[in-house]
Amino acid sequence: MIEGTMRPANSRAHGRFKLVGGVLCLDFANTRAGRDTDTPTEYLQDYADLVAWAEQVGLVDDGELLLAVARQRPADAEAVLTRALALREAIYGIFSHVAAGKPAPPADLDTLNLAVADALSRARVVAQPEGFSWGWAAEPDDLDRMLWPVARSAADLLTSDALSRVRECAGDGCGWLFLDTSRNRSRRWCDMRDCGNRAKVRRHYQRRRQERASTA
Ligand SMILES: [Zn+2]
Repeated sequence: MIEGTMRPANSRAHGRFKLVGGVLCLDFANTRAGRDTDTPTEYLQDYADLVAWAEQVGLVDDGELLLAVARQRPADAEAVLTRALALREAIYGIFSHVAAGKPAPPADLDTLNLAVADALSRARVVAQPEGFSWGWAAEPDDLDRMLWPVARSAADLLTSDALSRVRECAGDGCGWLFLDTSRNRSRRWCDMRDCGNRAKVRRHYQRRRQERASTA
């Protein structure tokens, strides 16, 4: 069962994936790092990585079961990974363009819409003790069930007021996306401790160089 897709920024911070996006779909986009560098990092190397990510963000609590199904149906698991990566790249394409004030690439929107249609066909309204919530008609062996809330998260964010707060990290070639929830909308880095810090160190050395040049 999937609850809302907005999470506190620091929830589930301790895991192998760094979650700095503030929104499910942006954290998914961030499973690839250093996009504009010569050595990008791919965090989703295989289906097991996708399950590990889904567990860390709380979309799946029976990862072992999914991995067992994947071992029985390796071709299906591989196909899900391929679709996951296509969805992720579409999400990155759309939100990085939006963050830069540009129109979303139509091909990326098409890819997202296919995933949204798939997700909505599995969406259900579920009665709760008080009121109702969104849920999913998932079978335990649905290898792609973690992709449905990701697609819906992207659709929700694109159609929400929060869209104007989506940013791409200003770090060199970083490419990570996040929701800027700072009051004065001034957040520039995915994480002050790495991209922000690297920029600070670079400014420091640039200043030192300039000082040395001016006193030489
Ligand atoms: Zn960064």
